[in-house]
Amino acid sequence: MPGAPGGPRVLLRRLREVMAEPVAAQARLDRIVMLIAANMVSEVCSLYVMRSDEALELYATEGLNREAVHQTKLRSGEGLVGLIARSAEPLALSDAQSHSAFAYRPETGEEVYHGFLGVPVLRAGNTLGVLVVQNAAHRHYTEEEVEALQTTSMVLAEMIASGELRSLGEPGTETAARRPLQFRGVPLADGLGLGHVVLHEPRVVVKNLIASDIDHEIARLNAAIADVRSSIDEMLERGDIAHQGDHRDVLETFRMFANDQGWLRRLGDAVRTGITAEAAVERVQSDSRARMMRSTDPYFRERLHDLDDLANRLLRRLVGRDLIASHDALPENAILVARMMGPAALLDYDRSRLRGLVLEEGGETSHIAIVARALAIPVVSAVENASSVVETGDAIIVDGDTGDVQIRPPPDVEASYAGKARLRARRQEQYRRLRHLPSVTRDGVEIVLQLNAGLLVDLPHMAETGAAGIGLFRTELQFMIAERMPSAKDQQRLYADVLTAVGDRPVTFRSLDIGGDKLLPYMPRVDEENPAIGWRAIRIALDRPALLRIQARALLKATAGRELRLMFPMVATRTEFERARSLVEGEIEYLRRTGHPLPSQISLGAMVEVPSLLFDLDGIARSADFLSIGSNDLMQFLFAADRDNRLVSGRFDALSLPSLRALRLIADEAGKVGCPVTVCGELAGRPLEAMALIGLGYRRLSMSAAAIGPVKAMLLALEAYPLEALLAEALATGGDPAGESLRPALARFAADHAIPV
Ligand code: PEP
Ligand code: MG
Repeated sequence: MPGAPGGPRVLLRRLREVMAEPVAAQARLDRIVMLIAANMVSEVCSLYVMRSDEALELYATEGLNREAVHQTKLRSGEGLVGLIARSAEPLALSDAQSHSAFAYRPETGEEVYHGFLGVPVLRAGNTLGVLVVQNAAHRHYTEEEVEALQTTSMVLAEMIASGELRSLGEPGTETAARRPLQFRGVPLADGLGLGHVVLHEPRVVVKNLIASDIDHEIARLNAAIADVRSSIDEMLERGDIAHQGDHRDVLETFRMFANDQGWLRRLGDAVRTGITAEAAVERVQSDSRARMMRSTDPYFRERLHDLDDLANRLLRRLVGRDLIASHDALPENAILVARMMGPAALLDYDRSRLRGLVLEEGGETSHIAIVARALAIPVVSAVENASSVVETGDAIIVDGDTGDVQIRPPPDVEASYAGKARLRARRQEQYRRLRHLPSVTRDGVEIVLQLNAGLLVDLPHMAETGAAGIGLFRTELQFMIAERMPSAKDQQRLYADVLTAVGDRPVTFRSLDIGGDKLLPYMPRVDEENPAIGWRAIRIALDRPALLRIQARALLKATAGRELRLMFPMVATRTEFERARSLVEGEIEYLRRTGHPLPSQISLGAMVEVPSLLFDLDGIARSADFLSIGSNDLMQFLFAADRDNRLVSGRFDALSLPSLRALRLIADEAGKVGCPVTVCGELAGRPLEAMALIGLGYRRLSMSAAAIGPVKAMLLALEAYPLEALLAEALATGGDPAGESLRPALARFAADHAIPV
């Protein structure tokens, strides 16, 4: 069989000319298929474009009946074309008609052709269409010819993805590249965001596909590979990360790919078909993505990200950083889409323009979720491949309540979310109006509503919500988002800023609650079988007293002249509390000796979140100046159900008899010795649960900023004493005969009394 006249390089050069011609999209497509057919010495060349309904529509043909254009459609999987779309692999046959998948379409007049070569039109591993050449003869297509057709298809992928062909298809249809998509991910931070896509790591746009000098491109490719390789080696050799497990693994995987002869050979082969080094990287990466995305092996899929990273490094090296969009130019209503992102990176964006965040990876307890909640930005995670199916500027909706993400939503979907957003805004406005009202139930019981915070970005919430103070300041958050251990001075500055922001309202600081799931990036990781019940919080503080002493000193200095309220997390015994207290007293003594001004009052508290304290309530309530219930941990330990494991975290009900009895016990025992108690876990921020807490006798609740409005609306409509009576009786008699949970009875009470919960 003759080789292509002029070979693929000539074809690519001709295509470049066609792309530059000022003609309509259909005319350009017609020219392209004609050129390909001539260059490949084929009687037929056809382009099928994948539509949003997964049908493959014939968009252009040279050689088949022209009347069939925009008429012939194949379902994904139907015929040879459908097979290629589904498998995302090329298919070369010397006798197409004897293949079992061959589908005969009389309107195209294709029965006279035997030789068949089809390749998927891929972009970032997604199939956008299928490009086919056919010959009357029983032709055997060479590997080079398959390769050349694949390279050519990149030009078409760009045309399809750019939206240039949108108006050509059958009326009422949309190309798959631009189709609306919906995903159900894991909601990490609630709220609703409507806006347009901004890629956190913008895809490097390869504009220059066609090489003018192949040797030069090979040299560029080799230089880029050598460069990336040596930077990886350097990173691995640098002492600071060399011993850290995770980073090292990722870099080792990088190095493995960067030295993988198969991968490197494919890159070189792609360049030799006549494309630029950057186009070759994109081509090979797109093929690898398509293959790996179809793999069910989790190891393979995991490696996909490493390979993406490596390809991106190469592309950046080849194209230069100037083609990458900068953070400064964030448009209005930006919704960030990222594979993953660190908390510091999120804080770098202009908050006033951010409406949401979509992540491919990142768990509920990830640090980014903490920061996003503080910034009140809805976040949905675990949206697989999100960043490869969107284009910058696409319309997108993030529903942080349900985990739904709508990409390029159709008008009716967009309208319904816009309605939901308006409703939310109205409700928020109603809550805002409540902020100046006294926080008192209908029968005159005052309830102190405080804020949970941990970062400077939380502080504006004080004014927005009208909170009575900060009931839980999680000091570890500052440590978690920092790249290195905050110095004593940094800590003191933050605490002073917090106190300035709250004015004369009280703040309860919590000493570092690290360990378990709260890892500090710069501290060696301790491998533990059960980190939640491992070396964490006060246990670390007592074993490494310098940490607590430095923190206590920073707090004492920052609170000079006013009250310092400090509590310790994960206290399991009275002795632990007393040891922590004596460490703080040592610092007070030191500051006194050295003539530093001291706080006007110092109150030291214990968090009640380990069940052992329930059986020494009398002791701990006498030792501590106050108690604060960490219901998140208390419930996980009470029911032995990991709070971060979705398989078990929903198995128990915090409004069931065991938990309500435990909570009643704490309120009663602390009350007996006059020790004030706050509830600061998530329980306090859910209206029905908060209502139950008031019914158990709690008068101080601390919660996230978003929860204050709904909880206040609930308590303003509540009569506390009838509810207390109902709960007292239910807890004494064993509750609802229908089950151990009092949730139905409490919900009934709320409904009967028109209490919004
Ligand atoms: C809790 O456990 O309820 C709590 C408030 O602490 P954290 O959520 O930070 O563990
Ligand atoms: Mg806790």
